[in-house]
Amino acid sequence: MSVRNLSQNLAEHIVIVGGGAIGLASAWALCEKGVRVTVLEAGKAGEGALWASGGMLAAGFETCFELDPAHPLAASYADFLGRSLRLWGDWAPTLQARSGQALGYDSQGSVTPAFTRAEMDRLDQAEALAKRFGIQATRVSGEALAHLEPALAKSRCALTFPHDGQLDNRALGRVLSDAVRSRGGEVVQQRRVTGLDRSAGQVRGVVLETGERLAADAVILATGAERFADMPAFATMTPVKGQMIRFESSDLAAPKRVVRGLSIYLAAKSGGRLIAGASSEPGERAQETDPDTLERLKTAACAAMPALAGRPVVESWAGLRPFSSDAMPIVGEAEPGLYLALGAYRNGVLTAPGMAELLLQALGADPRTDLAKAFSPERPGLKA
Ligand SMILES: Cc1cc2nc3c(=O)[nH]c(=O)nc-3n(C[C@H](O)[C@H](O)[C@H](O)COP(=O)(O)OP(=O)(O)OC[C@H]3O[C@@H](n4cnc5c(N)ncnc54)[C@H](O)[C@@H]3O)c2cc1C
Repeated sequence: MSVRNLSQNLAEHIVIVGGGAIGLASAWALCEKGVRVTVLEAGKAGEGALWASGGMLAAGFETCFELDPAHPLAASYADFLGRSLRLWGDWAPTLQARSGQALGYDSQGSVTPAFTRAEMDRLDQAEALAKRFGIQATRVSGEALAHLEPALAKSRCALTFPHDGQLDNRALGRVLSDAVRSRGGEVVQQRRVTGLDRSAGQVRGVVLETGERLAADAVILATGAERFADMPAFATMTPVKGQMIRFESSDLAAPKRVVRGLSIYLAAKSGGRLIAGASSEPGERAQETDPDTLERLKTAACAAMPALAGRPVVESWAGLRPFSSDAMPIVGEAEPGLYLALGAYRNGVLTAPGMAELLLQALGADPRTDLAKAFSPERPGLKA
């Protein structure tokens, strides 16, 4: 069924290649604007890196501990993470209502404990960055943390980020797919796109593995860390593999907040699942786990939360984070008719609504902000 396009500027029919965090979020945002959207997903929607992730919405932690403050786009990225976190405050209840499914969204904050002198020094640096980037962060003593999070090992002190949160990333793919369908969009699974259809200097559709062609007024590539033959060279992604483990913890008092430790993170999900992660292995494309890495994760998790000692790991998995040549997202028009929504790297769950917002701006649905310019494919610094 065709949906009437409510925005005069927007293309009539948009094909999105990739039904992951970014493709599905963009599809939903476009459906909400009245655009006819078809998502083509090679496997199952939401089962790429989105499924493998920790589902953390940790804008505070990521800005203060993971962002390179010397990066030319550092301030823009800090704004982008904060903006995405705020967007989740609206998206989560709306999506839950639209799909009728729980998303496991909580905004109880995150905490970073320091167990060693060196980790205390890192907290000092992080606090300075919090001030610089306008992030709310509170230093608490080891005793105070023991009251806040009694499940954690004794620490020297901690930094809390009260606005951080998390959601159930494995539910998100389903919830977004259902929300897209509820607005007349299509999410077609097991359909690999192998190329782009161009004529008269414009991308006019996609070519499927089966040889079929699907016409579109615009095509969005949201292919995550996967290779795509027709990808512009400057947008080639390096996969950064992450391995994770899960403990069964329904009989344990798990931490209430996301624990963003400096050698391990822990997040209690619904149904007594406690996940811990993650490794960071640039350039590694194979998605198998390896026993040494899993053992390292287990040891670090037990050190952070002593009640886990002796518990079996009941699940392990790996996924690939999409990393661009300048470590920043790439959102916008690459050539006439072709748009990119790539490079969300370690924050694609958090930034899914923000990526969708920038994409709408690039497509002309909303006025272009400074963030859209900062992360556009035209920026200097992207290497072929
Ligand atoms: C271990 C781990 C932990 C993480 N933890 C977090 C976290 O806590 N918080 C956070 O915000 N982020 C986290 N991330 C990062 C986050 O998962 C990614 O940034 C995000 O999933 C990227 O979204 P995407 O849509 O670009 O890619 P994906 O979610 O991987 O989706 C891409 C989709 O495109 C499909 N596709 C690819 N090529 C084609 C093609 N040619 N035709 C059709 N379909 C195609 C794939 O099958 C896939 O489904 C984590 C990642 C990993 C691996």
